[in-house]
This record gives sequence, C-alpha cells and structure tokens, in this order.
Amino acid sequence: KPMEGRISDIGPRHFGEFLPPVIAKNFGQWDYHEILEPGVLCHTALSGDKAYTVRCGSARLITVSHVREICAIADKFAGGNLRFTTRNNIEFIVDNKKAALDLKAYLNGLKFPGGSHKFPVGGTGAGVTNIVHTQGWVHCHTPATDASGTVKVTMDAVFDDFQNMKLPAPVRISMACCLNMCGAVHCSDIAILGIHRKPPLIDHEYLDNLCEIPLAVAACPTGAVRPSKVELDGKTYKTVAIKEDRCMFCGNCYTMCPSLPLSDGEGDGIAIMVGGKISNRITKPAFSKVVVPFIPNEPPRWPTLTKVIKKILDTYAAEANKYERLGDWANRIGWERFFEKCELEFTAHLIDDFRDPAYYTWRQTSQFKW
Ligand code: SF4
Ligand code: SF4
Repeated sequence: KPMEGRISDIGPRHFGEFLPPVIAKNFGQWDYHEILEPGVLCHTALSGDKAYTVRCGSARLITVSHVREICAIADKFAGGNLRFTTRNNIEFIVDNKKAALDLKAYLNGLKFPGGSHKFPVGGTGAGVTNIVHTQGWVHCHTPATDASGTVKVTMDAVFDDFQNMKLPAPVRISMACCLNMCGAVHCSDIAILGIHRKPPLIDHEYLDNLCEIPLAVAACPTGAVRPSKVELDGKTYKTVAIKEDRCMFCGNCYTMCPSLPLSDGEGDGIAIMVGGKISNRITKPAFSKVVVPFIPNEPPRWPTLTKVIKKILDTYAAEANKYERLGDWANRIGWERFFEKCELEFTAHLIDDFRDPAYYTWRQTSQFKW
C-alpha cells in the first residue's frame, strides 16, 4: 500500500502499489520456500497461501521492444506482474503450480532464429545464476574490458549449470569492467574484473583548455597527480604530471578530467578472482582472491577467459563436497592445491596473506597446507 502522507508525484511510485495480490496480502508473513525444479520456486505464507515463481535469465541491457515482449508474457500468464532480481533475472509470479509449469514450458519454447533460448528458465539453487555486471564498452568511460561481451561468452560456457542444479552449492559469478567496480566482484564465487595496467596518457593542450587542474589532482587517491607546465611548439600549457610508480591505474583522474584517458589495447585486460561470498551459511562471508592476474581482451569470444572459468567451475563441481561453496572448497584443500587442480599458475603475489617459508618461519593463515 502507498505510504501514508507520501508525496507521490516526486520520484518513483511506491513499490507497494506494484506487488502481486498474493505478495501484498502476505507481506512480511512468509513461512518458508522451496525450489520445485530448476527455475521454479514456491513460497508458502503463514496463512497457507502459496506464490509460485518462474525465473528466467535476461540480458542486463535490453531494448524497449524486448521489455514489451516481457510485459506481454506477464500480462498473458501472471496477471501483469513481474519483477527483476538484483542479478537481472526476470521473475513471473503465479498462484498455482500448473500455471507455473505451463509458463516454464512456454518460456523454454521461445527461441531466437538460430535456436538459442530467448527466455532460458533456471538460475535457482545449486547452479549458476545470471551474472551481475557493469556497463563495459557500451556505456562507461573507464572500462578496461567489455561487460556485455564477456558475460555473454561466460554464460554460453556455463549455460548447462544455469539450467540445472547439479553443482555442490550456488555459484555466483560477477563482472566489473574496472576496479572502481560498480559490480560485486569483491564477494563472488567467481569474478571477472577489468584491469588497466598503464598510467593515463596526458593531452596537455586539451587539459589546459578543458580541465580543472585542482580537481584532477584531488581525484587521485595515491597523490600521483601534481600540477605542472609543459612547453609544446613554443607554447606553454598549464597541465599535470603523473608520478607513474604511484599510479594504480584506477581511472579516477580520468573521471574528473577527460584529458587523462588510460584505455590501452595492450595494457587493458581481465583479472579473475574466486572464493568470495555474501552468504553467512555454514561459513562467514568472504572476499574474493585474485587467482589469474591478467588475461588479454580477446573479443568477440574471449576464449582464454571462458576456458579458465570453465576449468575452475568443472574442477569445483567434481571435487567439492555437497553445500561447499567454491571458496570453502579451496580453503579446505589449500589454495596451493586449488591452483594445481585448476591448472593455474601460482605466484606469491596472488594471495594477500601468503608468507614465503624461505623468509618466514610461521604462517599467519591455515589456508596453506603444503
Ligand atoms: Fe564504469 Fe568501472 Fe563501473 Fe565498469 S566497473 S561501469 S568501467 S565505473
Ligand atoms: Fe591517480 Fe588513479 Fe589517475 Fe593513476 S589512474 S593517476 S592512481 S587517479
């Protein structure tokens, strides 16, 4: 219900106006939920009412005509109700099991001309769900890699695990196209992170004419940018200088000053992180760790990226215990063994709390089991 006294002509309308009737009626009064089969959930309220949800994947960036298609399905099957999850899955909520299964069959039958699914049903339970991701080359100004492209090829590689729930536990994959990271890569089972490896280029003439130098200086978190003057073709420009050994390639200065671009064909690429999670089930939440420091950008199909992710996922699926998240499995067997089994190159720089036994007589962590 709309909140009392709410000014309704400013900002979006109150979400309560859009709830399906069964959700509105039982708001805050849910007892438990179960996953009936991949992509189909049933929530049971204390009143005994049940809400059946059919979940399918979507691309995060979608056209208006595709939105209309989604709305038409909601009108036809779900009383006009639908929701998007934080991972950009589409959920249709219906009030009986038969309607849910009919809708699942209908969605699975909708195909693109090439035969691939238009609305693939799945993304529940112990499987891979939709990848949460950022803007990439489509929109943002600081990406080191693409978001839509890397996510598409990754989902193609792990699609079977989206449709089925045969992994030991849920696997959350995230993607952020720079380390400013408006995605969720810091706490994902598998994370794809775009990284720059070169400091910004400086266009002195543009900078003098276009940018606020104090703003560019203040934007740098490591103090690498300082005011400077440069002589070019007999003309003096007020500009900045960058202390390269202080630069961590974050792109903050470029956000404030468009004369400091840092995109670079050779320098830009992807790091892979694993083992993070938000859930506190069985073990506490954990940050992801870097396990592959650099993979070059290889559009349009990013073969190295997908090979690495598939190998990690398949090894985890084959070796982990039931209910064990990817990071919990790596912690149990030891991170050195994780690298061996996933055929990844290990260096001491990859794990933040690694201590080289040649120099230290004790370790600060039990994660290393050699
Ligand atoms: Fe832009 Fe970085 Fe966010 Fe990607 S992760 S959309 S480059 S701020
Ligand atoms: Fe500073 Fe980041 Fe710009 Fe490097 S990229 S100069 S660290 S703001």
